[in-house]
Amino acid sequence: MQVFKEFQIEAAHLLPNLPDTHKCRRLHGHSFLILVTVEGQLDPQLGWVIDFADISLAFRPLFEKLDHHYLNEIEGLENPTSENLAHWIWERLVTALPGLASVQVKETCTAGCIYRGV
Ligand SMILES: [Zn+2]
Repeated sequence: MQVFKEFQIEAAHLLPNLPDTHKCRRLHGHSFLILVTVEGQLDPQLGWVIDFADISLAFRPLFEKLDHHYLNEIEGLENPTSENLAHWIWERLVTALPGLASVQVKETCTAGCIYRGV
């Protein structure tokens, strides 16, 4: 069974490795949607995989680092594509959140990525 919790962060970024003519090279912002998915067996007594509050608790320090920040200034996010952001979040959640199955990052309503640790 997989369960997920969705978070939203507001953040600015630019993609420094693109040519000046690309729109993503300019400073801009997104309301990033971040979906954290945990996989595991149902606890037979509680009937759930994990308390959603535990996912929120594990994500909280990352939310504080990301929300309303300029992503390029965060260590490890110098090139903050959605893909790199998903990887960055995964690396910081995987030990705190046993059963972490994927980190999904949507930077617009129609564009995003899913990282599953590989
Ligand atoms: Zn962007």
